[in-house]
Amino acid sequence: MTFVRDNISRLAGYVPGEQPQGGKFIKLNTNENPYPPSVKVVEAIQVAAEKLVRYPDPVSTAFRLAAGEALDVDPDWIVSGNGSDDILTILTRSFVGQGDLIRLPNPSYILYRTLAEIQGADYQEVDFHDDWSLPESFSANDNRLKLVFLPNPNSPTGTVVSQTEILELADRLPCPILIDEAYVDFAEFNCIDLVKKNEKIMVSRTLSKSYGLAGLRFGFLVAQPTIIEQLLKVKDSYNCDALSIAGATAAISDQQWLQGNVAKIKATRQTLQEKLTQLGFDVIPSQANFVWCTHPTSEVKPIYEYLKENRILVRYMSYPNWKEGLRISVGTDDQINACLSLIQSKV
Ligand SMILES: *Cc1c(COP(=O)(O)O)cnc(C)c1O
Repeated sequence: MTFVRDNISRLAGYVPGEQPQGGKFIKLNTNENPYPPSVKVVEAIQVAAEKLVRYPDPVSTAFRLAAGEALDVDPDWIVSGNGSDDILTILTRSFVGQGDLIRLPNPSYILYRTLAEIQGADYQEVDFHDDWSLPESFSANDNRLKLVFLPNPNSPTGTVVSQTEILELADRLPCPILIDEAYVDFAEFNCIDLVKKNEKIMVSRTLSKSYGLAGLRFGFLVAQPTIIEQLLKVKDSYNCDALSIAGATAAISDQQWLQGNVAKIKATRQTLQEKLTQLGFDVIPSQANFVWCTHPTSEVKPIYEYLKENRILVRYMSYPNWKEGLRISVGTDDQINACLSLIQSKV
């Protein structure tokens, strides 16, 4: 294609996990929640649907108030997005210019690389240590470095970097660091309080995983107000529609639903981890709603394919310098049992 920028025509493009449109699959490949969202969400969307003749609130005021209350931060520390992927795009556009550098750990979320490429920026991947901590070089200075991405818990591993490590990283880094907390509701701690301690630390969240609202497209960022002010100039004026603002506001206001859901997922996660270990897999204890497993002797791609033939989707992933593995989202107990029986017949 001759008309688009060079870096766009060179781009492979991000490929999301499969979303089969026909047939019945058990979907354990994109970390969606297996349970329906709070009924309050559906009610709020129905009410909002009556008022679609008007443009939505450009800054999602109702959501920022509700999220501020739920997370104990001021609403002016929050900006909302059309999924947290939109937040990642807004941050990249705001902080990173052509020829600049983005840093991310390896293995981690593939989309960060694509965002750098679209921007005409470079990305640098730094391998985790074997114990899933980060090496010194992750916080090394570089004149071109403008943004660092750190999913915490990480995908696909489900591992976490401690608050102390993150504070130290931020102190040394010459640029902001985004802690991508897409999975944090399933973890033992979060980093919202660190945002108050160091302006370089920003935290993104999504309603796609723990709130069971992947189809709604709603995410948000927590950062110091001086940063939020700038990001509001970069985002699309109406990046969140009226239905999603209403649904997201109801969802984040229903913390009781969230706690119940998280408890169920964690219990199933425990079973999944134990059974995979019994079946001979190497399993990393997960703080997310998925489990990453590798196998010491067997190839795992045939297992992925066998599951798919039997209408169960998991995510097969391979990263440079790491063993290929399967990332299995925590579904219902029935879904996980079905998946485990098939795996058992294959290993
Ligand atoms: C799922 C995921 C997101 C994206 O969430 P959306 O809000 O659905 O765009 C962001 N970061 C990581 C690490 C994820 O796994």
